[in-house]
Amino acid sequence: MKDTTHQVHQRAKQRRAKIHRKIKQMGLDAFLVTDEKNVTYLTGFTGDSSYLWLTSGDAILLSDFRYTTQIEEECPQLDTLIRDANQTTFNLVTQIAKTSKSKFIGIEPSCISKSVYDQIQSSVSGELVDTEGWVEELRAIKDKNEILTIRRSIQIAEKAFSVIRSQMTADQTERQIAHNLEHQIRAFGGSGCSFDPIVGIGPRAALPHGIPSIRRIEQDPFVLIDWGARYNGYASDLTRVLVTARIPPKLRKIHDIVLTAQLAAIAKIRPGVCMQKVDHAARSTIERAGYKKQFGHGLGHGFGLRIHETPFLSPINKGQLCPGMVVTIEPGIYLPGWGGVRIEDDILVTKDGCEVLSGLPKSLDECVIEL
Ligand code: ZN
Ligand code: ZN
Repeated sequence: MKDTTHQVHQRAKQRRAKIHRKIKQMGLDAFLVTDEKNVTYLTGFTGDSSYLWLTSGDAILLSDFRYTTQIEEECPQLDTLIRDANQTTFNLVTQIAKTSKSKFIGIEPSCISKSVYDQIQSSVSGELVDTEGWVEELRAIKDKNEILTIRRSIQIAEKAFSVIRSQMTADQTERQIAHNLEHQIRAFGGSGCSFDPIVGIGPRAALPHGIPSIRRIEQDPFVLIDWGARYNGYASDLTRVLVTARIPPKLRKIHDIVLTAQLAAIAKIRPGVCMQKVDHAARSTIERAGYKKQFGHGLGHGFGLRIHETPFLSPINKGQLCPGMVVTIEPGIYLPGWGGVRIEDDILVTKDGCEVLSGLPKSLDECVIEL
């Protein structure tokens, strides 16, 4: 499953070629890539604190001593500059900018602080140009290998969930369930969770991004779990509600609305469809049921090297879905004091429609567990 260094190098080179072309088209001299996931995407190097200097034809990885060996292993073909102990990586940037006489330099402003921005600006003679989103745009369309890796990440997340589900006991706390999930994800070959799992029992399920507490399973009849695995750098992201006692009628009602909304949105997914329309399919279902204000977040998001990345499905995004995008669809209804329901699956946009990559049962009757 894991690629050879040569395959990683070839893919990174193809991705860089697209950025090289854009640098040329836009009349820039260089592009300083500072987002660490963008650096990984364009080089295969998985460490942090390193930047990539790209021109219309060249690429230089700027890093430090800690990563010398890792760079030799992960991207031996790439030109590299390792800073001295008494230098900062930005000293290297200034050095290259000066020697190459670069005038127009693209940067990613959201990845650097204002002071670093000012530092670069004052040390180069040219102009800084906003190139934010150039790499993210490429990252939004996954290649075959990325899709395989994401499939594996989802499989690991699902296997881990099935184990913790079968081992759930009345006295377990939200924190213990989160811990058990992480343990199982690692046991199945993941490198960890793709984010800190959200485990909300009863009323705590009303917190869309609640931090696991010491509330115990036996205190309420249901629990919401939002989790994901990380595998070879790639995330997965799923949510299910498990019922641990007799199904409360209110839970059945809310769950039915959310599931209907989710299926309506998934049914819309195909290349060329406006993301706003997909969001609307779910949102209008929830609105018609009278819970408009209780669904206050976007419908879903892309994921890959990061858990949240382009594209974002929301009521205002007029962008279109394209083949190769992988997105979550995760409508929810949250009622403070009572609880909440969110159902989240991972969907691949295919050439002529979509494929739901995640397959855990989601009808409420299939989510009942005996303690
Ligand atoms: Zn999630
Ligand atoms: Zn999500």
